[in-house]
Amino acid sequence: MNILNKPFDTQFHTAPFSKIKNEDFLPAIKKGIEDAKAEIDAITNNPEAPTFQNTIEALDFSGEQLDRISSIFFNLNSAETNDEIQKIAQEVSPLLSEFSNDITLNETLFKRVKAVYDAKDSLDLTTEQLTLLNKKYKGFSRNGANLPEDKKQQLRDIDKELSKLKLKFGENVLAETNKYELHITNEADLDGLPESAKEEAKQTAEQKGKDGWMITLQYPSYIPFMTYAKNRELRKKLALAFGAKGFNNDALDNQDIVLKIAKLRHQRANLLGYKTHAHFVLEERMAKNPETVNTFLNDLLEKAKPAAEREFKTLSDFAKELDGIEQLQKWDGGYYSEKLKQKLFDLDDEKLKPYFKLENVINGVFTIAEKLYGLQFEEINTIDKYHDDVLTYKVTDSDGNYISIFYADFFPRAGKRNGAWMTVYKPQYVKNGENSRPHISIVCNFTKPTKTKPSLLTFNEVTTLFHEFGHALHGMLANTTYPSISGTSVFWDFVELPSQVLENWCYEKEALELFATHYETGEVIPMDLIEKIKASATFHEGMQTLRQLSFGLLDMSWHANEAPETINSVKAHEQKAFENTKLYPDVAENCMSTSFSHIFQGGYSSGYYSYKWAEVLDADAFEFFKEEGIFSKNVAQKFKDNVLSQGGTEDPMTLYKRFRGKEPQPEALLKRAGLIEK
Ligand SMILES: [Zn+2]
Repeated sequence: MNILNKPFDTQFHTAPFSKIKNEDFLPAIKKGIEDAKAEIDAITNNPEAPTFQNTIEALDFSGEQLDRISSIFFNLNSAETNDEIQKIAQEVSPLLSEFSNDITLNETLFKRVKAVYDAKDSLDLTTEQLTLLNKKYKGFSRNGANLPEDKKQQLRDIDKELSKLKLKFGENVLAETNKYELHITNEADLDGLPESAKEEAKQTAEQKGKDGWMITLQYPSYIPFMTYAKNRELRKKLALAFGAKGFNNDALDNQDIVLKIAKLRHQRANLLGYKTHAHFVLEERMAKNPETVNTFLNDLLEKAKPAAEREFKTLSDFAKELDGIEQLQKWDGGYYSEKLKQKLFDLDDEKLKPYFKLENVINGVFTIAEKLYGLQFEEINTIDKYHDDVLTYKVTDSDGNYISIFYADFFPRAGKRNGAWMTVYKPQYVKNGENSRPHISIVCNFTKPTKTKPSLLTFNEVTTLFHEFGHALHGMLANTTYPSISGTSVFWDFVELPSQVLENWCYEKEALELFATHYETGEVIPMDLIEKIKASATFHEGMQTLRQLSFGLLDMSWHANEAPETINSVKAHEQKAFENTKLYPDVAENCMSTSFSHIFQGGYSSGYYSYKWAEVLDADAFEFFKEEGIFSKNVAQKFKDNVLSQGGTEDPMTLYKRFRGKEPQPEALLKRAGLIEK
């Protein structure tokens, strides 16, 4: 029998990576789907009346084998992939989405779920069970299960049309990005650019068979040019091209698509009984409704605006003094900000890196987890792993109880995608009275050690490690009954709280002293460097905040709109949405919405606010730690009991209030960001 379909007989039942062959995956997943289908059939064919146990609970524990195999497969496809795995992924993905569609469209199953849902008040369920029931029911109803056949068809038509439009939107943005070239033949036009950026530009030109240098609208080319290039005319030219994506009244224009997407999303929401698309989306978010989001954004705006205007004035004065700039324009912002930052801080990665040897930072984050939550990390070399670079740990609590397996995979290699992430091989849950502990992993792409130097992290890499480790704690400390609401399976405007809050320790002297020691001399990082890190981290925070808020407000202006069919000019609509957040003069030939892929192509519609929302939460939560000491056992215990261990078992605002004693307030963030007085 296929090794993947059998229970793993390894120590701690971890994945037997070294024994799995690529060709095992496809048949194992097919068999997993077959078995999961049989489990669903057993639910729908049950002659007994539907109950929470025989329907909702059975549904949540179904497909366990399939989930186990697919997590291994997709985790490998991200962290250690190759052509063969990628090819298998192409075959596997449609099978899995077909299977999940089959469940959503299973009317007999929905009838049973609905019967339990309708009787929920008389069932004497725990809070966790009620949450699970609600989640399962919504999984069907939000996909139209309650609609009559003709409306179901309408919904399917809208979904089809929407997915086509979103695809086209993305294709247009990509084509616009790839089509543009700024060809430079006079080296003086590159004045100010770092050598590495010049080198890149030269290579890009070579690849396109041209002399000289080539700047494109791809971020790695665009950002350095806008940040460092002295030539103001060329910055203007490039910025205008960047801002006009999807707004050139040609075949790649996205204006019509934006209007259509907004209208169809609205119709879809109405069909399902929601006032607007934002009402539909936010029902399953901590923020709950558009009113809360709009109040949240406008409240922050009011508080951040004075600081943003001050910063803008200082920056304008600086540009005037330096180069006689009369009116600061969009294409000047990045350039003069960088110049001012250099003047004020004189801080670069090379100065900090010697204090952040990877091994020291790992020990530091483990020590912090021990001080806060009593966790112990023991490296265990007998756990099977998918690559030699991967480190494996057994995690126990202060009484020696087994908590979790923790994998850490730090260095880049050919088969690993970019970025950093936390992931789960096996979630935590309680089954047959046994608390089955999770297998958690973090994957990063940090600076590698060389023959002469250990791995020395940039400060950004340090905060990334803390961030992912914060997600990992959320997974490791999970203590719930049902797998689908365990660990990080929470509303997505709540999921960044555990990760972002942990980043705060990177800026605290008491924490840095535990691990930020010079890799050669052992000297603890000097206080003035810590102060500089803090100050530079909040540089131009007011303007940055205004920018984030403007995107959030634009998002809401499209999706919380009760009559999107009355909007006929994308540009005019956008200008109105930006009215209160504007610092730079408007540029008539540019438009943001036509290339705002986050909300018109990706999954962030009515969700852009969540970046700031998560920051408010983490600052407010950390403020509580600071009030009682950053290693306060009392606050840590509350955070563990009410947030880290609870997963999605309850409404996040309820969980948060139980931890904090009150609702989150924006003041802590505004103080941390230096936008209001401390
Ligand atoms: Zn995160």
